Amino acid sequence: MENCIFCNIIAGEIPSAKVYEDEEMLIFKDIEPKAKIHLLCVPKEHFSTVAELNDTRAALLGRIFQKIGTLKDTLGLSEGYRLVINQGENAGQTVHHLHIHILGGETLPWE
Ligand code: AMP
Ligand code: ZN
Repeated sequence: MENCIFCNIIAGEIPSAKVYEDEEMLIFKDIEPKAKIHLLCVPKEHFSTVAELNDTRAALLGRIFQKIGTLKDTLGLSEGYRLVINQGENAGQTVHHLHIHILGGETLPWE
């Protein structure tokens, strides 16, 4: 998707601070961190919300969660972390390429 900022990051057209990459996902630092550690994990395939999941994408998302779990210590998240996926306008989704916020590195507030 040409005008998608995360597709542009995946394509290397916009710089990002990458912390993990493989053939189907990318993890990079959020440019406006809302916790001491704030990463974004994106599938390389462009789709916006879980409402667009098919069997292939559901399996991909499963592997993405599995990978986050595998990487938690490497990413400095061994004391715990929060995964957030904003979906649509009411949730404040600003980038319409599905992404998982990975928040940690400190005790996180919960209201
Ligand atoms: P959301 O509000 O859930 O759509 O989250 C979008 C996130 O993308 C926000 O936390 C932004 O700070 C982050 N973001 C936007 N542009 C960039 C960028 N170029 N590099 C890294 N993170 C970005
Ligand atoms: Zn995209």
